[in-house]
Amino acid sequence: MALSSISMIENHITESDSCWDNNLIAKYDVAGPRYTSYPTVPNFDVEYDTKQYCEDISAKSLSNISPLSLYVHIPFCQNICYYCACNKVVTSDKSVSRRYLDHLEKEMRLQSELSGTHRTVMQLHFGGGTPTFLDGAQLTELMHYLATHFSLTDSDRREYSIEIDPRTISKDSLALLKGLGFNRLSLGVQDFDEKVQKAINRHQSFDMIEHLTQTARLHQFKSISYDLIYGLPFQTKDSLSETIDKVILLSPDRIAFYNYAHLPERFKSQRSIDRHDLPTAQEKIELFTLVAKKLIAADYVHIGMDHFVKKTDALYKAQQQAKLQRNFQGYSTCMAPDLVGLGVSAISSMDNRYVQNAVQLEDYYQQLDEDKIPINKGISLSVDDCLRREIIAQISCDLYLNVNDINEKYQIDFHQYFKDEIIQLYEMEKDGLLQWQDENLLVSTIGRLMLRNICMVFDKYLQQGVAVKFSKSL
Ligand code: SF4
Repeated sequence: MALSSISMIENHITESDSCWDNNLIAKYDVAGPRYTSYPTVPNFDVEYDTKQYCEDISAKSLSNISPLSLYVHIPFCQNICYYCACNKVVTSDKSVSRRYLDHLEKEMRLQSELSGTHRTVMQLHFGGGTPTFLDGAQLTELMHYLATHFSLTDSDRREYSIEIDPRTISKDSLALLKGLGFNRLSLGVQDFDEKVQKAINRHQSFDMIEHLTQTARLHQFKSISYDLIYGLPFQTKDSLSETIDKVILLSPDRIAFYNYAHLPERFKSQRSIDRHDLPTAQEKIELFTLVAKKLIAADYVHIGMDHFVKKTDALYKAQQQAKLQRNFQGYSTCMAPDLVGLGVSAISSMDNRYVQNAVQLEDYYQQLDEDKIPINKGISLSVDDCLRREIIAQISCDLYLNVNDINEKYQIDFHQYFKDEIIQLYEMEKDGLLQWQDENLLVSTIGRLMLRNICMVFDKYLQQGVAVKFSKSL
């Protein structure tokens, strides 16, 4: 994308943005994916198994010298947070880690034989569950396994990040994480209001977060990110305003501001939340707009789906240079072409194939005991999938679609190929979500809030009516 086009994207939430009428909100308040992949996980095929994956990947990958991304999933949590939609196992029994670590090591051996042990790991992310469920010795052991089976690096350009549950970590553990090579931290903050914390069963004080943030800065972590959620029970403009003021005071480099999706029929823990305590769709828009205004006034930039960053942060610089990327962990600056996901339910993306590991622990263990990469389902992307994936990635990351580039790369006539989609895009243009500029597509400030809706236009699987329950867009 041309830099001049990026500079045209204004970075402010105007008064008119906050004055959406109810009809517009109702129109775009539909369920849809977050597009951390395309096709999305519900469209993976259970027939695509380990044997097929190994046949598809093995020949090419061993001669591949491009960098690699790694994701490690630690599924255990000490307590349940009622809003949670992650794949986790809630237990206070710390001994469960032993069996898991042993199987992770085995998976690393099998996966690295397939991906190649020689490829430099530029991006590493520990997610969960709660990675800090593991104690210091176990985290050290895990890094030792990773270093044995893959080529970790100490390059300054690496992005090695870990999700932190502030309730399960000490300041000494932060020093250890730095020593193990992590340079980015992601703290689950969610909301500082006590009534909200009680309703979601997640109690953590401001002092706790402040202390952790200060300690992380002392240890010179490159980037500190906070996860916040809007749409939680009992959140009001006043309560969320106070939370955001506290966040701004602590000044994290990145803020992921997620929309709570209430899907109690899918996620059992959410049944502990009374839907009558939740803000309405209109109230959620007001909450989002309030927070966006405050963050932007405090010099954060809304870079797209759920994310605000400081102008000094690498993600902002990457977007300015049209180098921002998106994968299962969200936005990234140095995503490698291939990602190996390790652990129960982890997803790998290799050579235009996606696979997801077994989602149940026992199934994961059993397949590894049989010396198999524990795959649950997957998909081999068609040319059409790759084309649509690239379009969705460009819109999500650049807030812009260069139609000429797409035509050239895929040898298509965009307006002919996507003639049905263009009718929907013109409708969105009338609603102010985007504009056409010299044949190319530019997402407006309001459109940034509706990025999922714009991407959904290009989702062939949604068009085909694949029945999947997603969270609502707003
Ligand atoms: S939100 Fe995080 S810490 Fe809470 S139950 Fe879910 S995975 Fe565990």
